[in-house]
Amino acid sequence: MDKTKCPRCSGKKFWKVRRNKIKCKNCKYEFRSKVYPLSLSRYEWKKFLKWFLISGRIKTIMEQAGFSKYKVLKCCEVVRLAMSKDVPSVFEGIVEVDETYIGGSWKNKNKAEKMKEARSRRGRGTRKQPVLGIFCRDGKVWATEIEGVEAKDLQPVIEKKARKGTIICSDTWCGYTGIAAKGYLHRLVNHGKGQYSD
Ligand SMILES: [Zn+2]
Repeated sequence: MDKTKCPRCSGKKFWKVRRNKIKCKNCKYEFRSKVYPLSLSRYEWKKFLKWFLISGRIKTIMEQAGFSKYKVLKCCEVVRLAMSKDVPSVFEGIVEVDETYIGGSWKNKNKAEKMKEARSRRGRGTRKQPVLGIFCRDGKVWATEIEGVEAKDLQPVIEKKARKGTIICSDTWCGYTGIAAKGYLHRLVNHGKGQYSD
């Protein structure tokens, strides 16, 4: 934020206005900052994180996610910053939980691998490694591999990692149903309808 300057008057104070634009407090000029802010939908973040975890190569992420180089670099910066923070042993307050999959493409696996994975079906109809992430509003992130994404897989992990009374925000996936009965406040986030997460 502090690197941003108004192109007209070099002012350094801004209001955030609609559509990623910022408005100079001094001369009221509105422009799109190249430095700030980065605004991604949940869907874009998931796409980015998936390729970040699979390959980690800037070029691959650019191609697969369809992001500009600037956007990829900015995302990497945000993620690395989040990863470098001290993650609490137990989360409290408001956290967001989400499961995702990582792993290479199914097509590229050899036959033995396919047979092995077919026997251990996991995930929401996919054969990639499911991962559960817990995200705190202050940017702290914690993730772990999980056996599957049913309630029996997800909820014990959440119980271990989040203090009772924590507000758990999740999507409407049935694996999270019943978490409220275990001493948590459960809030639903609708992924499909364009709700954004900071
Ligand atoms: Zn200005």
